[in-house]
Amino acid sequence: MSLPTDFALAVENLTVSFDGFKAVDSVSLYVDPGELRVVIGPNGAGKTTLLDLICGKTRPSGGSIQFKNQELVGMAEQKIVRSGVGRKFQTPSVYPKLSVFENLEVSVPKGRGVWGALFFSCNQEVRQRILEIARDIFLEDELETEAELLSHGQKQWLEIGMLLIADPELILLDEPVAGMSVNERGQTAELLKRIAKGRSVVVIEHDMNFVRQIADRVTVMHQGKVLAEGSMDKVESDPKVIEVYLGH
Ligand code: ADP
Ligand code: MG
Repeated sequence: MSLPTDFALAVENLTVSFDGFKAVDSVSLYVDPGELRVVIGPNGAGKTTLLDLICGKTRPSGGSIQFKNQELVGMAEQKIVRSGVGRKFQTPSVYPKLSVFENLEVSVPKGRGVWGALFFSCNQEVRQRILEIARDIFLEDELETEAELLSHGQKQWLEIGMLLIADPELILLDEPVAGMSVNERGQTAELLKRIAKGRSVVVIEHDMNFVRQIADRVTVMHQGKVLAEGSMDKVESDPKVIEVYLGH
């Protein structure tokens, strides 16, 4: 049993083996409330697996994941979502035949509890919230557009919006700017900085220009372990990081 901390997310000694291969190997990581953390590292470093572990998609073979001092290991995926963790996967998964507005609407949390009660007691409030989020994700002029007609970048934004609807306190994003144009990347940087104001965000990313624009701190993973951590300037000048990642 760990002592309570001020961290939004405290990952300790997290390990998972696939047939004896340790994809994530004794990783510890501490994220503050309101922090935007970027995780970088070569392909196969274990970055996606780390997010899979945090959101409950994969069960670790050892270690602990505390979110607001609550243990997530062993908790069902849906319960982790309800506790305030939102995850975006590498490929955007929006409903292609639904409009932007409808995609956001179907993402409104259902059921009982504060959210369900709030949303269903006041349709006008739901609508207002959807419009706000559409503005945040640069899609206010596309509300009636079917999602399949959006650009790849716009789909990525829509999916971020679908997460924001539930107002999670921790958002996990896997390569959100992959396939985006330079302009879209700039807008996404702005968006992520804005959404990190009231919550913690963990982003996996490869584009170092983008990372420099957004990161509070950077964690470098290599072969399942944390190789380095700190400010962008610090990790960029770390000889170990240059050797395994930035050098090529
Ligand atoms: P990254 O996102 O950093 O590129 P991943 O987390 O996707 O890396 O993968 C880390 C390693 O774990 C890779 O070698 C990958 O092949 C392996 N791996 C990931 N998921 C599984 C799985 N479900 N079963 C077996 N091996 C896996
Ligand atoms: Mg990955």
